[in-house]
Amino acid sequence: GIPATVATDLLVPLADGRVTDYANFDHGASAPCLESVRAAVEAALPSYASVHRGNGYASRITTQWYERARAEVHAFVGARSDDQVVFTRQTTDALNLLARCLPSNATVIVFETEHHAALLPWPAERTVRLAAPDSPASAVSAVANALREAPEGPRLVVVTGASNVTGEIFPVAEIAAVAKAHGARICLDAAQLAPHRVVDIAALEVDWVALSGHKLYAPYGAGALVGRADWLNAANPYLAGGGATSAVTGDTTVWNEGPSRHEGGSPNVIGAIALAAACAAISKHRDAIEQHEQFLLGRLRDGLANIPGVKTYSLFGHDADRVGTVTFTIEGLTSTLVSAALSAEYGIGVRDGKFCAHLLTGHLLAGDPTSSTAVRASLGLGVTREHVERLIEAIRTLATKGPKSAYLESAEGCQP
Ligand code: PMP
Repeated sequence: GIPATVATDLLVPLADGRVTDYANFDHGASAPCLESVRAAVEAALPSYASVHRGNGYASRITTQWYERARAEVHAFVGARSDDQVVFTRQTTDALNLLARCLPSNATVIVFETEHHAALLPWPAERTVRLAAPDSPASAVSAVANALREAPEGPRLVVVTGASNVTGEIFPVAEIAAVAKAHGARICLDAAQLAPHRVVDIAALEVDWVALSGHKLYAPYGAGALVGRADWLNAANPYLAGGGATSAVTGDTTVWNEGPSRHEGGSPNVIGAIALAAACAAISKHRDAIEQHEQFLLGRLRDGLANIPGVKTYSLFGHDADRVGTVTFTIEGLTSTLVSAALSAEYGIGVRDGKFCAHLLTGHLLAGDPTSSTAVRASLGLGVTREHVERLIEAIRTLATKGPKSAYLESAEGCQP
C-alpha cells in the first residue's frame, strides 16, 4: 500500500450550504504530511537541543539525529560516497546556494521552461537560455549545441526532472551524458520528480540534485542540495556565521569544508528529521506510490480528453512520460473563475496562474488569444479515486454549463 498522509478532517463549506471533504489537487505546490513524518517529529520534540554545539546528552542525541537525517537524504537520492548533503530551506534555497558557488567564469545553460527557482538564480550575463524543447530528443540536442558553442571554462547545465506545469519527465540521464561528454557539470531540479520517481544521482550521473521537503510529504522549511563538494568548498560560505568556521582570529577566518561551510547558524533539525522520515517512507513505497499516481493520472487524462472545450497542455505530446500533473483551460472561462468554482461548488483545491514558470506558461498558451493563465491539478498520496471522478465531473459541468456564480472573477486569483 501507499504511505498514509495525516488524515485530513478538513471539511469544506460549499456555496450551496453543503459541506464536503477537501479534494486536494495541489500536491505539486506542497504535499500533505505523512503519518510517519508526524511521528518522527513528535518523537523528537520533547528532547531536542542544539546541534554540533553542546556536549549535553540532548545535544549529542540531537546531533546524531541531524547527521542520520543527512545520511538518509544521501541514500534517498542514490548519492556517491563523496557527495555531500547540504540542508537548505527548500529547492529555491538549494539552487541559490549552488549559484553562489559557481566559479566566476562559469557559463550556465538552462531551458526557459524551468520553474523560476531554476531559471533565475544564475548570473544573467553568463546564462544561456534554451527555447522550449518539443521532444525529449530535441532537449538533448539543444543542450549539446549550446555546450558546443559555450565559451571556454566551467559550464553548468540546469534541468528539471519533471515540469511543474506539464508533469513531463525530462531526459535527465541523456542530458547528463551530453554534459559529461563536454566536460560540463549538471544540476537536477528534483522538486517535482523526487516525490513521484526514484532519483539516483549516481545512475543518472548528475553532479547535484536539489529538492524540497514540503513537496515530499514533510512540512515546510527543509530541503537539500546534494552532490559534488568541490565547487562548494571553493566558494565563500552561503551563510557566514557560527558553525561555518573552525577558527576566527582578529584578522583571519578559517571556513569549514563540507556541508557545515554553508549551514551557518543553528540548523533546522526538526525540518531535517521530517525530511529524512519522508525520504525513508517514500523509498520504501516507491512502486505502490507510482502505481497509485499513474492509475489516477490515466483516469484523469482520459476523463478530460472527452470534454469539449477543455484543453490540456504539453511540451512533448500525448505519449510523453509524466508525473501526475495536468494543466488545462476551459474555453470561455478564466482560470481564476475555474479554480474559484472548483473550490466553491465541489470542494476541490487546484492552482491557477502561471505556476512560477512564466516563460513556459507563455509558450504553452501562446496560441490562446483569451487566456494567459491556466489551471493545474497535481496528484499525490492525498488524492483518491473519488476525488478524481469528482474533478472530472466538475470540469465537465463547468465546461458545458458554466459556474453557478461569478465568484472571484473580478478579484485576484491565486497568482502568480
Ligand atoms: N522547481 C520546481 C520544478 C518546482 O515545482 C518548485 C516549486 N513549485 C521549485 C523548484 C521551488 O521549490 P520551493 O518553492 O520549495 O523552493
